[in-house]
Amino acid sequence: MERGGGDRRARGSARCCGDAVMAEPSAAEQRWLQTARDFVLRALPASPDPGGTERPPLDAVLRCVRSAGGGDLPLGYSFISISDLKHQQHAPCCSHLTWSTNTFKEWAHQGKGALPMHSSLPRAYLILVGYLTDGRQEDKDGCLYVKDSTGIIACELLRFELEWLESLFLFPSWAYIPQTDHSAAGYIEILVDPVPVNRLPKEVSETIPVIYPALAEPLLVSRIPCKKRSKLSVAGELSRLSPLLCIHQKTFFFLFLKCFTSVVWVPVLVKKPNQLAWHHTLQLGRRYTITGLSISSLKKSGQRMFVTSISSRLLPYCAEKVKEQALDSSWQGESSLSASLETTEHFNDSSELSAEEWPGLMKESKIISYVGTVTKILNAQAGLYELDNKVCLCLAYQQLLNSARGIRPGACVELIDVHLLQKPLVSSPFIVLGACLNSTVLLRSFSRLSTPYHPPVTSRNLYLQLLFRYNLGMPLYLWLVSLLETFKERFSCFFGHQRLLLSSIHQNPGPAEKFLVPVLQAVVPDRRETRDIYQEILAKVHHCPLQKYLTLDPPYQVPSLSALGRVAEQKGWEGFCPSQLLSPLEAQHMGTQELNRRLAWSYCTLSAGSFQPRLILLGVLRVSSRRSSLQLQDSSGTLPCVISHRDSSPFANTALIGSLLQVENYQLVVERFIQSDFPSWEQLENSEHVREKKTSIYVQFYFEDVQVLHSVEGQIQKDRRSNSRKKNDGSSTSDLETPEAKVLKLEDPTPDPGRDEGCQRGQSSTGITSCVSHLFLVTQKEGLMLRNYQLLREGGGEEQEPQRSFQATVLWLGRPQLWSHPRETKSLPELEEANHDGGEGMTRQEALLLFMGKSLQWFPFLHLDGLYRFIVPHCSDLEVFDKLSFPPVPAEFLGRPSCPLCLPVQDNWHLQHETWLPFPAECQLAARAALTGMDQRVSSIPEILSNSFRGSLVSFSGEIVERTLCASPKNEKPSATLSLRKQKGSLLASDHSVKLSISAVAGSPVVLDIYIAATYLQHLRGLLPGAKILFQNLERKISRFHNVYCAYIASSCVTILSLPASHQLFTSSCAGRASSPSLVFISNLQHHLQNLPQARILCHVSCVLTLSLQWVCSLCSSIFKEGKCTRHSPPCPSHTGVRQASARVLVEDGTGEALVLCRNQHVAAMLGLSLLEWEAVQSCVQSRGSLFIQYGEATGTGCVEELEDPIACYLRNLCRSSLICRPILLDFSLDRKPSKVLQPAPVQVRNFRCGEMEFVSQVRPRQSLLCLNVEEVGQKALCCLNRERIERMSGHCQVGTTT
Ligand SMILES: [Zn+2]
Ligand SMILES: [Zn+2]
Repeated sequence: MERGGGDRRARGSARCCGDAVMAEPSAAEQRWLQTARDFVLRALPASPDPGGTERPPLDAVLRCVRSAGGGDLPLGYSFISISDLKHQQHAPCCSHLTWSTNTFKEWAHQGKGALPMHSSLPRAYLILVGYLTDGRQEDKDGCLYVKDSTGIIACELLRFELEWLESLFLFPSWAYIPQTDHSAAGYIEILVDPVPVNRLPKEVSETIPVIYPALAEPLLVSRIPCKKRSKLSVAGELSRLSPLLCIHQKTFFFLFLKCFTSVVWVPVLVKKPNQLAWHHTLQLGRRYTITGLSISSLKKSGQRMFVTSISSRLLPYCAEKVKEQALDSSWQGESSLSASLETTEHFNDSSELSAEEWPGLMKESKIISYVGTVTKILNAQAGLYELDNKVCLCLAYQQLLNSARGIRPGACVELIDVHLLQKPLVSSPFIVLGACLNSTVLLRSFSRLSTPYHPPVTSRNLYLQLLFRYNLGMPLYLWLVSLLETFKERFSCFFGHQRLLLSSIHQNPGPAEKFLVPVLQAVVPDRRETRDIYQEILAKVHHCPLQKYLTLDPPYQVPSLSALGRVAEQKGWEGFCPSQLLSPLEAQHMGTQELNRRLAWSYCTLSAGSFQPRLILLGVLRVSSRRSSLQLQDSSGTLPCVISHRDSSPFANTALIGSLLQVENYQLVVERFIQSDFPSWEQLENSEHVREKKTSIYVQFYFEDVQVLHSVEGQIQKDRRSNSRKKNDGSSTSDLETPEAKVLKLEDPTPDPGRDEGCQRGQSSTGITSCVSHLFLVTQKEGLMLRNYQLLREGGGEEQEPQRSFQATVLWLGRPQLWSHPRETKSLPELEEANHDGGEGMTRQEALLLFMGKSLQWFPFLHLDGLYRFIVPHCSDLEVFDKLSFPPVPAEFLGRPSCPLCLPVQDNWHLQHETWLPFPAECQLAARAALTGMDQRVSSIPEILSNSFRGSLVSFSGEIVERTLCASPKNEKPSATLSLRKQKGSLLASDHSVKLSISAVAGSPVVLDIYIAATYLQHLRGLLPGAKILFQNLERKISRFHNVYCAYIASSCVTILSLPASHQLFTSSCAGRASSPSLVFISNLQHHLQNLPQARILCHVSCVLTLSLQWVCSLCSSIFKEGKCTRHSPPCPSHTGVRQASARVLVEDGTGEALVLCRNQHVAAMLGLSLLEWEAVQSCVQSRGSLFIQYGEATGTGCVEELEDPIACYLRNLCRSSLICRPILLDFSLDRKPSKVLQPAPVQVRNFRCGEMEFVSQVRPRQSLLCLNVEEVGQKALCCLNRERIERMSGHCQVGTTT
């Protein structure tokens, strides 16, 4: 190590007298010397003496230390070894062996200039002695190190001489900067030139023949092949120096030697490991001679340059020591040497990237030089720093091979030829200085502040890898950095940022990479241009990714969940307009109560495209056992979610819990709740009447649209999955385990031969972790409610409060199994076993599972007809389930022997969904119905509506057609104060309930209404028009009007089978029933009497039987007259009246007659009045309060005072006029009030006229219809419709007459 004999020679030349060592030392000195001796023995390797004896360089070190300290021993200082420095020093510090306190204070004070908030480096009193080296013998990376025999540590110098390598130095002034996370060593900043302990060897140089760039350059240009062995020496001024680069484990750099007198320059490639240290000594503007150069060219571009050889030396240029060489024959005319002798430099370009081409106006970056102080580390991994509190420096386009050592806040850097980009990102305020491979970044001075050092990771650094892979321009790179920063901030608390941000190895990308790669691929579509780093460094005309740029408006945003919530809420209310929620025609006739109730609950949905820029959703899937709902989570908050399958199977994938999901196709639902006191529709624009606003936000999406960025599964799944990977041999690359992947094998009972093997593997890898599993089928699931189970909570003692819980009836399949992890269940052996036991029912046993506390988390996953298994970890007791079971009632009350045992589900049990019970297998399990004594069949809506249906609890599925808020059926007219009272946590007043109209299939006219009380609604998400829902255990009821409807009760539950189609969602909440009704005949109505919600007839108005117009109080519905309510006891305070109108009209369509009940605006339409006329008529009625006209009254019984009333007169004449009798298109629903549903009466035969045609038809009794819409029919349309009708009717009439 130490150069030969240096020790002895150094003694002679040392200024300090050797006698001082001999003088009688004090006790303190003796102690100090003893420690020094110990240190040298331990830390500095003994060097072989020329005499052959080994002696540590103690004397030389002491002499050097004395000399530095002015002759005295620095008793206040102690030696520190590299190992101790690395392991004992945890905070930054500096040591200045020769400085006085004042010198130090002044030095520290000056360093605070730019950053007064930071403290200076604290001073330590340590003596550092060690060898300077360029790394371990074989593994040179271009960095410099200080080493002793205890260890080695990287160092950074401002000035370096090649002769210093491998020499022993005393470092009089240095700073130690530990790495922030203490996991790795820091580095040393060498503040003052080191003092050699021994004399440095002198290079003896002879005169060297050199050529100058002016002569060398033509050699590169002309393609004269050079003889391989001919070496040249080139002398010139260093004009440019590339950063150290490492490609395919080869580290290298380029330097450029310029002619002293002209601008001609030549590139030199330095790539021999022992020459990489040159990079530290080379200084721009200085003159050098480099020997042993040959000419080489790049394989790809043919670019030629000089390359160093192993024997090359870097020498300072000295005019006396060189003579200009004339190029001899070896460089001329030897064209016979084939070009193949030429070495070719070939680095596989992992750096082949593409520069995106932008439409629009490109900006050109300026190339500048800049000197500034680092004020902040913006993102070390991304190579972003802040200079002078205002400029962003980006070093990422260089490779950051020296780990950005020295670039700490307070350090001064000089940037030569960097690109200046102004505001490359819309959202960033920065001017960015980008260093490309043509730029030089120099450290001008070290920081004197105690600021931390964040070394960028050079291997698997995702920022840099993506930058190079996609050849990103600065705007995209900065955007990528911002995305990754938010990503890290949001999810590192779940997964640790190390794992999140690692870039891929072996095709196994980390979560952040999985997230970003598709985004980048979308933004950087094709690889038009690859980044050619050699071109970037060597080309005469500069070309690099930083030259041109366009300010980027980010194409996506990925906000935190809390920010998303805020934005969604804002957007939700932005679009809120009470008058748009209701049709004005309807709203103007509504009383206060109904009006405000209809406004109380509305929603809007937002998709990714509703946000500008598009919004991508990221979150960790969690289950809240408190709310028993799925939610996405990040460090900022949570967002409840509803997940469905596209094939309408419910979501049951328990393995997804804890996984990081990305969703780009989703429906963000903003449910808006308001408390308002609008007196009538006229005040709807006045937002003062909105007293309170609340919002509930959740997101719904399909499982198929989910991309799993990272899955953290329970131990059980992890083991199983790793096993499955092995077996499937890469075919299961999807992270999503689809339930369909497992096939029920009911016929083949042969045991899976791989099963035992799996057990063995598991035992060897994870130790013996047995668990017990039990397969079951869910036959019934009930909703969440407070139940009075105080018993048998494990260790919980007696709890008096009713607990939130749910229960499910299940059928055990097979016996509990003992598992050793990992285990692959391709088939379900229990099922086979159960099947082969025949109908004995020995292994099929029913149980009532009770879920409470933490096990409530399984609520969103457990569904009817699902095959699941419980896995009890760390358990080998096969009777674990039996031991916990108990009868639901004390034994003495136990009536039915088949009553299932209750089993409280324990918190640590794991639920795993296996598959769905397929239909063919249902017959095999038909015994189940017999066993359970209950038929848990899912009925159809027509079945439930049918009069012959028996049963009070029903389950069915269907699509929500309409959602309206209405008064709870029990208290039809609650007082105003009661309606304001709210249940705790509920967003709706407790006296409200929601009416859902459910149709069996989309567009079907058969509709069943469901009423859900507000109290249940707070747990129910996704009940939106268009959604397909499975309702279970609803109570079937019959109204006093003989209508069948269902009520949601405590044991009911809902499962979202599919989400509303997105086109439905863009329309607002109160959209009516969608499709236009089909044209029917009155005579056909009998067939559809039940269940037909809406139809259309072409008919003729026969006469108006009654007409009633009223002005009623908006609060109490009494008659309103002259601006006051007419109710007197008690007096009504209302000042608002509402117009209401109704009429009964007789129509016929040639097949029959019907009575049509019209309300409000339909009355006007039926009477053929324009809106203006109707307005006038209603205003006239206001003065008298009400008006009633009956058919035929004018002939005899007309009252005198009404005759005097012009408005009554007008209306009576209108009703009697033949103008009324005209063809119309009528949309209606059946009015099913019992008085109107007539018993089948004898069929009459009557004559009808329709246009020019005469018909004879059988007539059934009058149907009673509720008018939904009246449309005038023009003459032309009438002809057209009639023709169509006649064609259809000819068949119908014949059928009619033959019956
Ligand atoms: Zn550039
Ligand atoms: Zn009133």
